[in-house]
Amino acid sequence: MKIPLAPSAPHTVSGTNLEYARSHNRRAILETIRLNGQLTRADLARLTALTPQTVSNIVAELMDGGMLLAGEPMRDGARGQPAVPLRLNPDGAYAVGMQLDHQMLVALVLDLSGKTRARLETPVDRPAPVDAMPLIASLLERLKQESGLDWSRMLGLGLVMPGPFGVEGMTSVGPTTLPGWEGVDAAALSSKLGLPVLLEKDATAAAIGERLYGMASQLRNFVYLFVGGGLGAGLFLDGRLYTGGRRNAGEVGHMMVVPDGRPCECGNHGCLERYVSLQALYEALGVAGGPQATPEHLAERCVDAAGERWLDAAVGPLRQAINILESLLDVDAVVIGGLLPAHWQEALVARLHPLPLSVRNCSGERLRLGSAGRDVVALGAAALLVFDEFNPQYEALLKTGRR
Ligand SMILES: [Zn+2]
Repeated sequence: MKIPLAPSAPHTVSGTNLEYARSHNRRAILETIRLNGQLTRADLARLTALTPQTVSNIVAELMDGGMLLAGEPMRDGARGQPAVPLRLNPDGAYAVGMQLDHQMLVALVLDLSGKTRARLETPVDRPAPVDAMPLIASLLERLKQESGLDWSRMLGLGLVMPGPFGVEGMTSVGPTTLPGWEGVDAAALSSKLGLPVLLEKDATAAAIGERLYGMASQLRNFVYLFVGGGLGAGLFLDGRLYTGGRRNAGEVGHMMVVPDGRPCECGNHGCLERYVSLQALYEALGVAGGPQATPEHLAERCVDAAGERWLDAAVGPLRQAINILESLLDVDAVVIGGLLPAHWQEALVARLHPLPLSVRNCSGERLRLGSAGRDVVALGAAALLVFDEFNPQYEALLKTGRR
């Protein structure tokens, strides 16, 4: 059948948005200095492939806004102007990252150089927004007091929780989700807390945390499988995060991998997280819903016979999911991390080999363990704000200048 073209449909081609280009270039400069420590304008032009004039303009803007500091000029032989080394001003901007999960709220402040300046945590019990909001507000206030930092340089709060977001029948249903969050959006949180809020899924924040602070710094394409109460994936593709149309890309926990398999709270059968998640492990160990269903208890428990039974059930569905992800995305590696204690993670990964044939069969280490540590999610949450090229707060800080 021939599909008629709409006669008036224009052929649209997106142009380069000037503000986008400026933001992108600014991020490239900040990121290049962050990775190298100290660079001159000439170094920056060479490493970013931007023109010397563009570099000069952006550097001037960043210095006016207090984001960069200039060192002592260095004379290079007898020729030309002395070169001024530039470095990030750690106190140029800050962001708060918070990870809210079923049992813990972790909060930290990150500075522009990527260093943690203050950290707090408090236990929670599957908090609904009405319970979580006062805790979030009080941790913010304590971070502000205890860090002693200039809060006018604060870019905002990256708040991270299990997904998916805004999906009827999935967002707040079952033991792997948090109750009551289906209608909550970043704008509502922002007006309540009085600072910009970016809402993100734990797996996505973990991917950016692993990229900046863990073993994925050299990977341009990877999937981060975040084993939490449920299971999610952070997608880092072609050097950028991919979050999808409604920030729900990577909800692999509800990928149906076992035909007529275990029933899931979402209404389907055979969802991956019914096999690969802390909840599935707690069920296998007979502790689900009880006081021993915590990562801390798992950390003290060896992989016993009940643990082996969980591995037996988890490995098949997970191998299939890895095969699907590799075939679909052609990633350099699948990184496994999250809240599963190290010896459980290692036992799981050891069982996954040999992986089934896929397009990644030819090269490299296909499966890796995350190495950014317990705070990977909160770090990633804050980093999303510090390194987000669209962050309008940057504009505000740059206009205000250093106070
Ligand atoms: Zn499901």
